[in-house]
Amino acid sequence: MARKLTGPVVIATHNPGKLKEMRELLAPYGVSTESAAELALPEPKETGETFGANARIKALAAARASGKPAFADDSGLVVDALGGEPGIHSARWAGPDKDFRGAMNRIQTLLIEHGATASEQRRAHFVAALCIAWPDGHVEEFEGRVDGIAVWPPRGDKGFGYDPLFRPDGFDRTFGQMDAEEKHGLPPQGQGLSHRARAFMKLAAACLSQP
Ligand code: IMP
Repeated sequence: MARKLTGPVVIATHNPGKLKEMRELLAPYGVSTESAAELALPEPKETGETFGANARIKALAAARASGKPAFADDSGLVVDALGGEPGIHSARWAGPDKDFRGAMNRIQTLLIEHGATASEQRRAHFVAALCIAWPDGHVEEFEGRVDGIAVWPPRGDKGFGYDPLFRPDGFDRTFGQMDAEEKHGLPPQGQGLSHRARAFMKLAAACLSQP
């Protein structure tokens, strides 16, 4: 039996785009949130070799520093033809200036070097690993993914990060061309399309009281 999340939770991210999505996901469950940035919690080093390991590092660090349950996400874009890169290095590829245009250009340059011009050679997926950690060290962990294509040129100015590069299977628009509700809205209104929404549906079923 998974442990239930009842009281307020710390969202262990300093990324405003992810904070907004995570708050929107939690809102219907009546769980109040504070962010690691609002509490001025230090950002731990992400030394894990998987998305799951890094989510656990962030959630445990925030839970121990705040004395409250903490919710962390680690995510990224996995491009098959690039051996899975940028993967867990997705944030790092954008550098300290968070230059995602530059990071998308780098993906495109490498794909061209690999001769990957046709859609089927440009398969990619987003992965999200979610972890809730409690101050006593207990963790609950969930993972979701969404498959698609790395398109070129990037399209749309919505969302964040690599959204303009990624077209999910079954759609003719990128995440950058979708509004928030379409990207991560949950059933019954939405369809839980994004990797984060898919992981969150598993988390909600296990750890949250249904709204
Ligand atoms: P981290 O999880 O903080 O290590 O960062 C993951 C990186 O992957 C972020 O900087 C984002 O740019 C990228 N990423 C993760 N999820 C998404 C998404 O839903 N859309 C676009 N980029 C994403």
